[in-house]
Amino acid sequence: MSLEKYKKIRDFEKTPEPPEGVGAGDENIFVIQRHKARHLHFDFRISLDGVLKSWAVPKEPPRESGTKRLAIMTEDHPLSYAKFEGIIPEGQYGAGIVEIWDSGTFELEDLKSDKIVLELKGEKLDGKYVLLKFPKAGEKEWLFFRTD
Ligand code: MN
Repeated sequence: MSLEKYKKIRDFEKTPEPPEGVGAGDENIFVIQRHKARHLHFDFRISLDGVLKSWAVPKEPPRESGTKRLAIMTEDHPLSYAKFEGIIPEGQYGAGIVEIWDSGTFELEDLKSDKIVLELKGEKLDGKYVLLKFPKAGEKEWLFFRTD
């Protein structure tokens, strides 16, 4: 759990993204940022161990059960990133437009190295969701889906 990579790949003189994490309180929070970069994707982030654990979801996250989405684990982000919206300038990492697509709180129902079960309480995503790591694929590939 470290923000080393997050800081290393960004130039905070040039990007409006936050350089450090500021505590978000005791609540478990999640955010989904619609990120119109070279490829449109949705960044799903949950507060865990003092950072935002993050996955890039190439297609819109499912509101109902029955649709599974690929979710690629990306670098940890600071908690303060949960409020970030803005334009990352050309030439910077992730250049493009970031908008909050959904946010809310969650309850953690299960946390294993390859499986996370969450009860999300957001505006768009409201229900029980699972993040499941692929057993044989690359280190970073997970599935994300609603389960109830
Ligand atoms: Mn992104």
